[in-house]
Order: sequence, then structure tokens, then C-alpha cells
Amino acid sequence: MAEQNKKPETKKPKFNVYWIYAAIILIFLGIQFFGGNSWSQPTKTTQGEFQTFLKNGDVEKIEIVNKKLAKVYLTEEARTKDIHAKKTNNSFLDPGPNDAAYQFEFGDLQNFENTIYNIKEENDLETKIVFDTDSNMWGDLFLTLLPFIIIIGIWIFIMRRMSSGAGGGAGGQIFNIGKSKAKLFDEKTDVKTSFKDVAGLEGAKEEVQEIVDFLKNPTKYTSLGGKIPKGALLVGAPGTGKTLLAKAVAGEAKVPFFSLSGSDFVEMFVGVGASRVRDLFKQAKEKSPAIIFIDEIDAIGRARGKSNFSGSNDERENTLNQLLTEMDGFGTNTNVIVLAATNRADVLDKALMRAGRFDRQIYVDLPDVRERKEIFEVHLRPLKKDDSLDTDFLAKQTPGFSGADIANVCNEAALIAARKDKKEVTRQDFLDAVDRIVGGLEKKNKIITPDEKKAIAFHEAGHATVSWMLEHAAPLVKVTIVPRGQSLGAAWYLPEERLIVRPEQMLDEMCAALGGRAAEKVIFNEISTGALSDLEKVTKQARAMVTIYGLNEKIGNLTYYDSSGQSEYNFNKPYSEKTAEMIDKEISNIIEAQYQRAVDLLEAHKDKLTLLANELLEKEVIFKDNLQKIFGDRPFKSSQEEEVATT
Ligand code: ADP
Repeated sequence: MAEQNKKPETKKPKFNVYWIYAAIILIFLGIQFFGGNSWSQPTKTTQGEFQTFLKNGDVEKIEIVNKKLAKVYLTEEARTKDIHAKKTNNSFLDPGPNDAAYQFEFGDLQNFENTIYNIKEENDLETKIVFDTDSNMWGDLFLTLLPFIIIIGIWIFIMRRMSSGAGGGAGGQIFNIGKSKAKLFDEKTDVKTSFKDVAGLEGAKEEVQEIVDFLKNPTKYTSLGGKIPKGALLVGAPGTGKTLLAKAVAGEAKVPFFSLSGSDFVEMFVGVGASRVRDLFKQAKEKSPAIIFIDEIDAIGRARGKSNFSGSNDERENTLNQLLTEMDGFGTNTNVIVLAATNRADVLDKALMRAGRFDRQIYVDLPDVRERKEIFEVHLRPLKKDDSLDTDFLAKQTPGFSGADIANVCNEAALIAARKDKKEVTRQDFLDAVDRIVGGLEKKNKIITPDEKKAIAFHEAGHATVSWMLEHAAPLVKVTIVPRGQSLGAAWYLPEERLIVRPEQMLDEMCAALGGRAAEKVIFNEISTGALSDLEKVTKQARAMVTIYGLNEKIGNLTYYDSSGQSEYNFNKPYSEKTAEMIDKEISNIIEAQYQRAVDLLEAHKDKLTLLANELLEKEVIFKDNLQKIFGDRPFKSSQEEEVATT
């Protein structure tokens, strides 16, 4: 109540700080303008002209002000003379009989006086000389008062800031530093995103929609004795549409929606984060029912303690503690729901994840073929596209792509089509866009020697040949030796979307990856640095087989994986030196065995490998059909490959 009374009070004197500035400037200008004692300014003249007037006997009196300015008063008779009337009429106000008609500055007073005396004597004149000191009273007064005016101005400024801060309750922080930076969307703000814009993600969408419903009709749930959840955590890989979902909630919920990012709490000052959390929840409670959305919550929500080397994380911990307290603090009936998004749920503090805080965890996965198709449909809506464009085909060509990647493909395709001055975006533009996004920019003018080119061609042909011969290797889409981004050539596969992977599948993939180096060995009997990325991939995979998935016989059914993310900071190995040696040996054994397998395969099919490499050198890009001509039908066909083949 007290707060409600307060509001009109602060509004009553409609007073703006800028008025003070305006008043100060006005006073200053006023003094500049009217600083002189007289309202009319005499006409400026020169010393030479003045001497002529003096000699003519036109001057009645000379007033010397501040020893540098001479003011000339004319005799009554002279004032009527044409020459003076014309000149003095130009001035701001006509000088009266008691005002000076002219003024000028002279150099040295002594010289000036001597000149006047000489002229007076020569012409026998009666002209009077008077001395005067002119002081700018207003100016002096202003200068004396200026510091006080400034101090009072600043004081009023600070008071105003403090009083507005007190409304937010953040302890009246000076300069608002402790106030939350959340952006507020409510009925008045026009959020265009709706659930229609979110393709796929059915499960997640349903959960989120339910949250909106909780806020709209709480009694429906509470009447049966249920409690409304306090928070929901959206977890998923980057670009899978978590922020988009939250935006859709903002667009549809029609309740105040506070949106901010985890890093918005962080500031260089200690204690600010916690204060911002308090402020955020206070604002949300005032406007309840409301939704708070915290994007990238891992910025503050990382597991506390243990791995704190430097103590520098204290501020983050305070912020997190405050968040936990606030989430616990408000009763279920306050109708404030916290939505948060992260792609690293594994590193979040366990306290944050327990029921009663983020009661619900909503997993937002990378889209599957069907979902990709829907996402394509959403993002193709605004494009002018070829009518025959097949979204099924596009969805199949983009395994492993996230929603953000697909949005990017659509945009890139439109740009490529525009670059080619096309009227509509065609299938080829989409394929080019996929190539561009997976492989990077085509580098047509990269200088490659014929020898290098040959090596690259055999390397890629090696991948293609081995993968063609192995049952579990991913089916090939195309092979290219056009340099793109960092790579000099590439064999493109359409990986099967597997949920669980068996060891033989992993081994076949590793063998195909080593096919490049094996081909160089078989053909040229020498190897090169070109296989770096293959080796990296293979080594990681072999290490994962041994240390993470427990797929190695010698090491056994063990895993050294720590899903809590704590071991990231740990310098100690969770296994003994002896085991470490064994792990290294096993990794090496796996890789060497697959390399030998690839070499053997290629030795057996050396002729076909050479044919393929030569064709590749000639055409630069070859597709599955060309391979089929050389190798005949592939002995094994995955279910997915059959689908692709029919499109
Ligand atoms: P994040 O999960 O990293 O928060 P975003 O929600 O910011 O990802 O997604 C980035 C962009 O990707 C969105 O703006 C949208 O254009 C596109 N996108 C992602 N997922 C989807 C989806 N399911 N449906 C439609 N567009 C999507």
C-alpha cells in the first residue's frame, strides 16, 4: 500500500533535471547579452576617426573605461551632423543625449592621453576627459554562485535517481546498477513469434504450452490439489530452437514476460548479480502472473565450489545462491514461472536442478528427418522458390543440422540465387548452400601444384573406395577436390541417424576415415600431412571407444566419463599410470588395425581406386552414380540409402 501511495507523490512536481541545465544556460546567456550596464551599445570607431572628430570640435567628453576603452560623447550640435547621425543610427538602440555615441579600444593609455592633450592644445578645445571603472556586477555575482548552483544541481540529480531506484526496491542503488536488466514483453509489446513458427519439437512445445496454460488458468490445476511448477529448464544443443520456444511463449502467453541472459547478472562489481536477481523477482511478483526467461543460464548456474582455484567465482556463486533462494522463496501461488535455457545441463549445479526449482527439464534435441522437413517448411515460407522443390529431399540432405543451420541454409540459398540473378530459388541453390555451410567458402583460386592435386585426388578416392566396400560406413554422396574453407577436398557422406552405435559400425567408420592416408601409402608409398583431420577424428573416436563407452576388451566395461563436468578442471587422471599405458596401447592398436584393413582393401582394388582418382582429377566433383559405374552396385545398402536413391 505504502508504495502505491508513493507513486503519485513522486509524479506531482513535474520536474525535470534538464530544467536546471536550461536555467543555468539561460542565466549565463542573459549575463553575456545584458552584462553591460547600458542597454545601448555605442558604435565602434577607430582612433584615427576619433581624432578627426576631436579636431572638428564634435567631442564633448571622453570617458576612459577600465584604462582600455574610450567612450566618445558628442556635443549637441555635432549629434545633428549628417556624418554622426548616419553612423550612430546603425546601432542597436539610438543613443540618447546622455549616451556615448562611439567607442573604441586604444593601445597605450599614456600615448593616448598625450595625443588628446596635443590636439586639445592645438585646437584650443574644452573637451573633458573622465576615468571610470566598469564592473560587471551580474557576472561577478554569477561566478560566485556558480559552484553552489552546480552542487545543488548534482544533488537534485542524485536524489531523483535514488528515489526512482527505491521504487524497484534494490536498496535504492545509485545509478541503477543493481536493477535487473530484464527486457519486459507484455500485452503492449508486439511479439510476432508464435508456436506456429516453431516446427517439430512436439514434446517440448506441449510442455511449454502447458506452462502458459498454468498461468492463464491456475485454478484448473490447483483445484485438484496440484501445485504449479516453479520453473522449467530447456536443455539442448545450440540452435535447436530453445530461445525460439521462449519467444513463442512470450508471444502467446499474454502475461508479462521478462527476458534476459545469464550473463546480464554479471558485472564487475561485487554483489550486483544477487541484487539484480532480487530486483528481477520483485518486479515479476509485482506483475504476476508472469514468466521470467533466463537464456544461457550456465553463465551463472554452474556447479559451485570444488573446482574453484582462484576464488574469482565468488560473485557468480552469490548470484546463483540468490537465484536459488528466490526460486524457493516465492510460494507456489505467486504465479511466477521461471523458464531457463542452456546447452550444458551437465555442468549446472545440482541444487538448481532439484524438484521445487526447475521441476521440469525439457529436452530439445537436434531435429530428425521429419522435423527437419517441417523446419524447412517454416523457413521456406518467405522464399520465392521453385515449385518443384522437394522438402523431403532437403531434409535428407541435411543430417545433423540444427534448426538454426536450416534457417541459415534457406537464407544462404536465397542469397546464392540472387547472386545468379535468378527469379526463384532452385534445388541446386539449396545444395550449394548446404555445401557452403558444411564445407565453407569455395576457394577457386587457391594455388595447388599438379602433384598436390594428384595426392588430394587419390586421398579422397581412397575414402570413397573404402567406404564403398564396408558394410557400416556411411553411404557416400559425392567426392570433391575443390578446395573449400580449410579443406583441400572432401568426401561427403550421408550418415545414418543412429541412436546407439555398435563397435563394428565405429570401426568401419574409422577404417573409411583412414582410407585417405592408406590410398596415399598404396599408390605413392609415402604419406603426407593431408590426413590431419582424419587422424584427429579417428583418434578421438578410438579414445571414446576405450575410455568412455567401455567397448574395449582389455580395459573392460569401464568408463572414465564424468557427466557432472567437474573433471574438466581436474589435473588428476581417474586411472593409474599402468592403465594409462594400456589405454594408449589399445587406442593405437585399434587405429593401426583399421589402417591395415584399409590398406589391404585398397591393395585389392588398386585398379578401381586409380580409375576413380583419374576421373576425379578430370571432373573435380563426382557423385554416387560415377562410383557405381566403376565399382558396380554396392554390396550393402542401408535402409536410408535406399530412400535417398529413390529421390
Ligand atoms: P538456441 O537453442 O541456441 O536458443 P535459437 O532458438 O536461438 O537456438 O534458434 C536459432 C534460430 O534457428 C531461430 O531463430 C530459428 O530461426 C531457427 N530454428 C531453430 N529451431 C527451430 C524450429 N524448431 N523451428 C523453426 N525454426 C527454428
